[in-house]
Amino acid sequence: MKVIELLESIPGVGPARAELIMEKRKISLSRRIAGLGPHQLRALRKEVGIMKVDPQYGSLIVMSGPGGVGKSTITQHLKSDPRFWVSISATTREPRTTEKDGVDYFFVTENKFDQMVAKDEFLEWANFAGARYGTPRSPVNEWREMGKHVLLEIEIAGARQIRVSDPTAKLVFISPPSWEELESRLANRGTDSPERREARLALAREEMAAASEFDLTIVNEQVESVVAQMVSLATAP
Ligand code: 5GP
Repeated sequence: MKVIELLESIPGVGPARAELIMEKRKISLSRRIAGLGPHQLRALRKEVGIMKVDPQYGSLIVMSGPGGVGKSTITQHLKSDPRFWVSISATTREPRTTEKDGVDYFFVTENKFDQMVAKDEFLEWANFAGARYGTPRSPVNEWREMGKHVLLEIEIAGARQIRVSDPTAKLVFISPPSWEELESRLANRGTDSPERREARLALAREEMAAASEFDLTIVNEQVESVVAQMVSLATAP
């Protein structure tokens, strides 16, 4: 959704004022909400007092599940749904060749990650496969205040932290149709050595054992159906 469309839809703002606000905040008319940073969002909210006119706080949806189960495809679908915003995590791991800083992750140094932890900037963070991963807190709050459903795609230790810190969060576990199916999906990735594949399977076995801690388990038979169930969960009162 474009910023201008959101502004125009707010009672009491209308097209002329929306344009003025955009000009004042130096935001181009074609800019989409997903492209705004937290500072710009805060400024916009102040400008129009969005909180007062849009009190519907967005849901926090946490999605976990074993590697290879198809979480990133589900995330891609929800990214293109204007009711959702997908959180961008910070990580200390190296970017993969196709990944972009600030899009897939914020790739940070160990030092920077330490500072973020010390400043309590994470909603949750955890170690996974030799690197640290964390969810920056303020954009999650900003987007929820703007009425967006926020999706976190995180591993299980992080999901457990959210369960404690935010009892309203909805925790979803994505499960494969069968263990054999997951094994063959991981085997078909093709980039791993046999040892690496074995390590991934061992980790997946551990992750599968945590499914019962989640509010809902969705079997990933068909991505469209998973996405539809995630949408109903987010939009349910
Ligand atoms: P990958 O390195 O393959 O992108 O991600 C490895 C694992 O880290 C995945 O299970 C992913 O869901 C998880 N992960 C990504 N971001 C975060 C985060 O901010 N917090 C936690 N706890 N896990 C994350």
